[in-house]
Amino acid sequence: MSKPSLWAIPLGGLGEFGMNMLALRSGDDIIVIDAGLMFPEQELLGVDIVIPDITYLKQNKRMVRAIVLTHAHEDHIGAVPYILGDLEVPLFGTEFTLALVRKKLEEHALLDKAKLIEIAPGQTSTIGPFQIEYLHVTHSTIDCVALAIRTPVGIIIHTGDYKIDPTPVDSRPFDLHAFARYGQEGVLALFSDSTNVERPGFTPSERAVVVRLEELFRAAPEKIVFSCFSSSIHRIQQVINIACDAGRKVGFVGRSMVDNIEIAHGLDKLHIPDGSVVRPQDIRSFDPKRLVVLASGTQAEPMSALSRISVDNHRLLSIHENDTVILSARIIPGNEKAIFRMIDHLFRRHVLVYYEGGRSAPIHVSGHASQEEMKILLQLVRPKYFIPLHGEYRQLFQHAALAEQVGAVSGQIFLLESGQPLEFTADGLAHRRDPVPAGRVMVDSGSLEEVEDVVIRDRRHLSEDGVVVPIIAIDKHTGRIEVSPEIVTRGFLSDDGQEILGKAREVILKTVESSTAEEKMDWSVIKEKIRVDLKRFLNKQTAKRPLILPVILEI
Ligand SMILES: [Zn+2]
Ligand SMILES: [Zn+2]
Repeated sequence: MSKPSLWAIPLGGLGEFGMNMLALRSGDDIIVIDAGLMFPEQELLGVDIVIPDITYLKQNKRMVRAIVLTHAHEDHIGAVPYILGDLEVPLFGTEFTLALVRKKLEEHALLDKAKLIEIAPGQTSTIGPFQIEYLHVTHSTIDCVALAIRTPVGIIIHTGDYKIDPTPVDSRPFDLHAFARYGQEGVLALFSDSTNVERPGFTPSERAVVVRLEELFRAAPEKIVFSCFSSSIHRIQQVINIACDAGRKVGFVGRSMVDNIEIAHGLDKLHIPDGSVVRPQDIRSFDPKRLVVLASGTQAEPMSALSRISVDNHRLLSIHENDTVILSARIIPGNEKAIFRMIDHLFRRHVLVYYEGGRSAPIHVSGHASQEEMKILLQLVRPKYFIPLHGEYRQLFQHAALAEQVGAVSGQIFLLESGQPLEFTADGLAHRRDPVPAGRVMVDSGSLEEVEDVVIRDRRHLSEDGVVVPIIAIDKHTGRIEVSPEIVTRGFLSDDGQEILGKAREVILKTVESSTAEEKMDWSVIKEKIRVDLKRFLNKQTAKRPLILPVILEI
């Protein structure tokens, strides 16, 4: 009989931002921890989302027993609808996490096939040779867990995303005791969140935003539009509380904001006092001095509620001089241009805009541990091996250096990147193993198909469905299209497709005409609108999903 061993196989999220996924394999049993997505970078325009390549899991499909989810953020659950069909395994997660997963599966018509198993902190699940205890951790969303996993070769701890919040909004503390208990018992390996390793000190408690928000709410002369990540239920709870105290009612706009609030409220995890909500259809006419609107779209996503509000093109409300807009979120690198353009639109309308930065008390705090919290965790767990997770290479590197400095790792620290397995053997040693397939898969969120995978796969799909490049010349001064749009295609239509392209031109014209002047000046917005409308039209006409890359020429 061969001796037991354990393989840890990172399939995403190590050396890159997003799409977290780690597989653990012992013998013929595999469990997968998290299945996240990554939002595409600018240069991948034309692609909706990015998910990890799961070739390794498909090759070993009969061994995969479960996907265990640590929390409800997109970079941990976003890939579930796209990979579940290939794996057909049960999903384990907390109540809120599964509620969001259920919503996604419903949208993809996959709910019937899915088996969802709800877990809670303190509970234990046995999956094959793995015994998993769920440990409560604090983070920017609710119902987050770390995993303590008993395996045939020792205990593995996976932190998930965490910070150590001493005063959590829901009064449910970070379970330091559990981490200490496992540390006492002896932990083979710790896998830990590296996101904020560049920040010294402690991450402030979620409650730290209250001071400044109260100040801003009291000072606001007219209505307040407050934007945060729609999964930041703690933040939303605090805003509702502060609004009520300030004698204001709350309205909600933006699909993800409305959905998440509905789900959290339905699970009794968000408390909204009776009579404090303004219905969507009443927001426009409600007294602005007594109103707070929670809106999604902190990253200036082109079609989001806040983007539309900033150019006064939202059907539920308009924005006026002396309104207050609070952007309570991190400006994610890569989104600066779009966000600052959105902020400019607001300032131009004489709106009072507040965003992260400056020296005042914070309007946003991070959900990830800073250096001192990382040190505490290392000292409590005192693992034999340490593997930094969840970060770009520089963050993993610095987390490794920090662990070295703390001196709490008795064995070795391993810097792994996605696709690089580590094997823990029965004699207590750890060895790097040959890489497995890993990479990024581009998905068109309107379908379950991969549109293109620019990194590792061939361009098969591209050659089947082709590329469409609409070229639109917009007059800088009038904002109008002066010459008919040109459409360049490769591998998309044969010669008899001229009629469709003619109609596609009309679609483009209609999209541009129905946009406001500011939208037309904001290229990222107008490009995204054209892409979405054209995608819908071409898919209907041809059943194909070409890659659409709009180009705007200013004349
Ligand atoms: Zn998270
Ligand atoms: Zn994360």
